[in-house]
Amino acid sequence: TEQLELILPDESASLNFAHKLAITLKKQIFGLNVVLLENIPNIKIYLSGDLGAGKTTITREFLKAFGVNTRIKSPTYTLLETYKVSRLYLYHFDFYRFSNPLDWVDAGFKETLNSPGISLVEWPEMAQDTLPVPDLHIFLSYDGEGRIAKIKAFTNEGIECIKRMKA
Ligand code: ADP
Ligand code: MG
Repeated sequence: TEQLELILPDESASLNFAHKLAITLKKQIFGLNVVLLENIPNIKIYLSGDLGAGKTTITREFLKAFGVNTRIKSPTYTLLETYKVSRLYLYHFDFYRFSNPLDWVDAGFKETLNSPGISLVEWPEMAQDTLPVPDLHIFLSYDGEGRIAKIKAFTNEGIECIKRMKA
């Protein structure tokens, strides 16, 4: 399976990575204009890592690079924040406060997670193995003052995205 490992020595490195990921995916999936796309696909990106590893930092920059220009709140308490750019929905989930693996289903998130648009999920491990396979799974870990990101692909879209990131 395709994977990418990056050393992110400081916050700006994390922001650069998030920006590049968004730009790459945008071009890959939507070409030049989302308005012209007939069927908007469903893309899932999961983000794992301890508190403070940088999941929200990366998600926020990703959303900005995708064109979200309203305030981006952390969904720690709301569990889900929804954004719309042109015809594209972007869903930012945070499962940190869940205690049982199927809480995300009880919360009514199954349909949203799988609907057309881009779903980003912090703390997917709270759902254990009950979540659908993501296109990309980003694993963040501490590395001294900085972070290391491992990005793994699980679908053809995810593999294509990592190939483009490397190119
Ligand atoms: P999480 O959502 O994983 O709990 P946050 O994104 O809320 O983490 O917080 C991450 C913290 O670490 C922020 O204070 C941010 O400035 C900092 N940070 C993000 N990326 C890096 C990095 N690559 N190196 C060092 N600090 C970082
Ligand atoms: Mg967070």
